[in-house]
Amino acid sequence: MKRADVVIVGAGQAGLALSHCLGRAGIDHVVLERGLIGERWRTHAWRSLRLLTPNWLNALPGAPYDGPDPDGFRTRDVFLHDLETYAGRWRMPVECGVEVVSCRRAGEGFVLDTSTGAWSARAVVVATGHCDRPLIPFALDGAKEARGIHASQYRSPGELPPGGVLVVGASASGVQIADELARAGRHVVLSVGKHTRLPRRWRAKDIFWWLRETGHLAERADDLADAESARRQPSLQLAGRPDSADVDLATLQPLGVELTGRVRGIANGEIAFAGDLAASVAAAEAKQARLLAEIDRFAGAARPIRRDPVAVPSSYQRRLSLNDGSIGTVIWATGYARSFGWLEPSALSADGELAHRDGVTGVPGLYALGFRFLRKRDSHFIGGVGSDAEAIAAEIACHLDRNGRKAA
Ligand SMILES: Cc1cc2nc3c(=O)[nH]c(=O)nc-3n(C[C@H](O)[C@H](O)[C@H](O)COP(=O)(O)OP(=O)(O)OC[C@H]3O[C@@H](n4cnc5c(N)ncnc54)[C@H](O)[C@@H]3O)c2cc1C
Repeated sequence: MKRADVVIVGAGQAGLALSHCLGRAGIDHVVLERGLIGERWRTHAWRSLRLLTPNWLNALPGAPYDGPDPDGFRTRDVFLHDLETYAGRWRMPVECGVEVVSCRRAGEGFVLDTSTGAWSARAVVVATGHCDRPLIPFALDGAKEARGIHASQYRSPGELPPGGVLVVGASASGVQIADELARAGRHVVLSVGKHTRLPRRWRAKDIFWWLRETGHLAERADDLADAESARRQPSLQLAGRPDSADVDLATLQPLGVELTGRVRGIANGEIAFAGDLAASVAAAEAKQARLLAEIDRFAGAARPIRRDPVAVPSSYQRRLSLNDGSIGTVIWATGYARSFGWLEPSALSADGELAHRDGVTGVPGLYALGFRFLRKRDSHFIGGVGSDAEAIAAEIACHLDRNGRKAA
């Protein structure tokens, strides 16, 4: 059995950020990754994806952005290359192609079964990603012609079967995919549920600049009335385009994207949509107005600026056939779940999620990192995971000191 004081599961930005912090503290550790470094960006994202957070915000511990384009948005490929360089530069002990299939308590520590053999550790950190398992809410019952995929399986317009596309979900992924497909000449129907509209730029700054300056990004989970519901909030309706353009319901309609309400159900090859489009849009406009007013108050702006509201079509499709040839593909941009079946059962809450407070679970020596609202609003962001990693590294150092630092 191989041994390390600390096993980190997952070599995305969270696992690497923590590896940097542990390495700097001289703590023996290994990072086990079932794929390659940054696997999620490599195999679960569309080809043209750019980060929607600006370069200046995407600092990792020991790697602040010092390039020539702080306000730019890195492509997926450049970001992947940067993650690999980060791991290489700090000689991080990453073992790729190793899937952890179970992690159980054993004495004072843990035993992890992996696809390549067993490991023992005094501490384990779960950095397997908030966006782990694609969430698809409905089966395409009775569909003979259309096929369904999750947004994480979408690659490019040319790789879809011919025909129209129904995109379900109007948060960051859904609106970007709808935009790309419409620009490629596809007929796109967008099923719109709860979403958060914000302008890419506001009062001459990127919106993330304001969200950081107003303290929004650093908002602590503990300070929220309902942290669980905050964890389920939709992602911001934003894109990282080189021209910093907005991509939202207002920009999609002139491209020919048809809007409709939430998917209510699918039966016998037909999708039914709710008549809630106006209500969803109104809720998003109200939320946007509250956020922008807060920013304006912070900025001391005397004169209000009004954004044009999204125009809701007076009538829209409430039913769509999946068998009449009009829709070839349904893309579910409906978010993600996590699967912790491999993990020590006593670490899980009743709903199967990892139970923790600020990344510290109830199982001594077991930690979490990179999950949404782990400690604060930006915990799952590239630029937010670093301070969480520092905090978890400090917790681990205390745990190892209490239990002796030598490997089990
Ligand atoms: C489409 C999309 C766009 C995004 N854009 C941005 C953005 O622009 N800016 C931003 O800040 N955030 C963005 N995010 C949010 C977040 O930064 C990403 O989800 C990011 O991948 C999270 O990094 P992570 O290290 O926490 O998890 P992941 O990148 O998901 O890494 C987890 C790793 O764990 C591995 N793993 C999982 N289970 C096991 C196992 N049992 N054994 C071994 N290895 C395992 C996986 O293969 C994976 O490599 C985006 C998310 C999505 C879905």
